[in-house]
Amino acid sequence: MTDAFEQQDRVLLTASPLQRVGAFALAALVRVPHPEQLTAEQFAAAVAVMTRHLLVTADVAKAADPGGFWLGASYLLWPNSKMNPTARGKQSPDERRELIMQWRAMPDPASWPGVPCVYCDRPACKWFGKVDIPLGASSEHRNTTAPGHEGTALCYPCVASLWAFPYGAALSGGRAAVIHSWDDSFLAPVTQVAVQRTLAAAQVPPVKSKPVSYARELAVLGAVRAYGQRVCSGVELFVLSNSNKEQFLQCQEMGQPVAEWLRSTVSRTDRRAGYRILAAAQGTRTVPGEAFLAKRAFGDPAAILHRVIAYLLDQVSARGAVPVEVTVLVPLVYSYCIEVLNMDEKDIARIRDLARRLAALLGQDSRPGPFGGFMRASAKGGDLYGWFRSRSVDWLLKSRPAGMPRVLLPVQDYRLLFDDDSAWSHRRLLVFAVMEALVEAGWEPKGATEEFEEIAEIAADLDKNES
Ligand SMILES: [Zn+2]
Repeated sequence: MTDAFEQQDRVLLTASPLQRVGAFALAALVRVPHPEQLTAEQFAAAVAVMTRHLLVTADVAKAADPGGFWLGASYLLWPNSKMNPTARGKQSPDERRELIMQWRAMPDPASWPGVPCVYCDRPACKWFGKVDIPLGASSEHRNTTAPGHEGTALCYPCVASLWAFPYGAALSGGRAAVIHSWDDSFLAPVTQVAVQRTLAAAQVPPVKSKPVSYARELAVLGAVRAYGQRVCSGVELFVLSNSNKEQFLQCQEMGQPVAEWLRSTVSRTDRRAGYRILAAAQGTRTVPGEAFLAKRAFGDPAAILHRVIAYLLDQVSARGAVPVEVTVLVPLVYSYCIEVLNMDEKDIARIRDLARRLAALLGQDSRPGPFGGFMRASAKGGDLYGWFRSRSVDWLLKSRPAGMPRVLLPVQDYRLLFDDDSAWSHRRLLVFAVMEALVEAGWEPKGATEEFEEIAEIAADLDKNES
């Protein structure tokens, strides 16, 4: 038992996301960079800090009173624990303190169950249940213990990590939001920032603020863009409640490619300039652009591209000209297609070449009609193939500028647009590339603005999520 006992003051990282966040939070509580660097004394100090925070609540009548932060959080995190029993109102502060100390103390090694910890395989110190293991920490995302079953065996450092995870979470609206990644280098600073925020929040009375759309997703976007190194794994967002009233767990993942790409909009100067426009393009009347960008980065990365193109077409319609913002978006759009949407670089080069031919064709006319015709044909329900067929003859016989190839739509380009799993994405990208080429060529349409009005409808059409 001596060896086993000695192992009980080392924090290890396990395969449980909440345990991992908690382990980094423990380290942050005593300002150690990595949980596996915690000495026995530092681990004990981190556990003592948490216990001290809970002891403050012993003198507090209600969660809303000053010092009641962790009492309020306990209903969300540790319902039916020794710090919030039904009879709490009748207990003296001393009784409350005693119960909290009992709860958080390491069980006497003589009482250990003689089974391994389910997280780390070291000797468990006790069987634990719902009080200590929040929803989302158990492997099946269930934390109820069947009658007659003893619960989940955990060692002391692992259960202490679970107690610590709320420090690495954002507690608001009756939920705990936790950012996790298997990339330790990313998780460390993100958790440190969260711990500082939680400690600060615990010091002040709760403020009721107006809910912000997708605030938790937006926080992940902020964390990813603030990170100074390459993001090497996807970033998970867990939103959970362990409360008696409502058991809730939502897991979302921002994939590594989109996370790293979003970070590159800060780290790369060529992508930085267009980020604000790309983000603004995602907004609706009710949801701010950056919040919707964050939401889409989790659930629907392709929609980010579609929305940018639809936004530009809206601008064409509103201004009666192709917006010059297209140029600043160029590095963002093509890198996004390659790095996030897995499009082939050679295919993109073909689409841009084709777009230059189309711009040469459309730009010969200063009236907006031919441009509108191409956009209409590109929209859902439009006959793009028919449009190419009729223009190809024209191109070959009269409208082809000197130096341009004789064939408007070579067979490889035909395949990309009409005979490929990503045909619809390629067509949308072609719309963007044509706008790019027209701006590059300095095309300034003149004429009836009504012709542009219908482009807004095409934009709405392109924005829909066809595959
Ligand atoms: Zn363990």
